[in-house]
Amino acid sequence: SVIDVGNMISLICNDARALSGDQAHEITMDIGERRLLTGDESQIRSAFSNLIFNAVKYTPAGGQVFISWYTDRNGAHLSVRDSGIGIDPVHIPRLTERFYRADPSRHKETGGTGLGLAIVKHVLLNHDGNLEIKSRIGEGSEFICHFPRGRLTELPPETPDSEIPN
Ligand code: ATP
Ligand code: MG
Repeated sequence: SVIDVGNMISLICNDARALSGDQAHEITMDIGERRLLTGDESQIRSAFSNLIFNAVKYTPAGGQVFISWYTDRNGAHLSVRDSGIGIDPVHIPRLTERFYRADPSRHKETGGTGLGLAIVKHVLLNHDGNLEIKSRIGEGSEFICHFPRGRLTELPPETPDSEIPN
């Protein structure tokens, strides 16, 4: 189906702000003009939520999370960047394995099963895309979902019958 990615990301951001709560993360987004993606809406939502909730979870109180959706000649991209704890480069190649968590001792308080990024990877594979991970320990991380151009659509999202004026 046709997904309005702008709308989806706004809704996830609201949930992320609720998750942050008293920790008062600064969660901002920049959504480009071309917002329609062809794909499985619930899969894409779960992939984007996992990345955005991770950004909040692994960023200390008061830190920043910046989400951006943009398109270029290569396709469409969702970048989720944070000013959080970062990831030691030795862990990055294995991060999308099921149950893999970087330096678990640090995560005593955060909890989690290590499945989120495995889901993200599979969702992107199902949509002919891939996940890029950039990180510096102590400085923050950026996770970028890349989708090929063919996933972008010009069609308006389907309007429910009840919203079409007579
Ligand atoms: P789950 O998502 O299943 O609740 P989880 O968050 O530990 O648990 P993943 O989302 O798969 O699992 O992430 C795997 C590991 O990657 C995390 O345990 C953490 O070590 C690291 N990680 C993921 N996102 C970030 C981030 N934004 N900043 C720092 N580390 C991260
Ligand atoms: Mg997670």
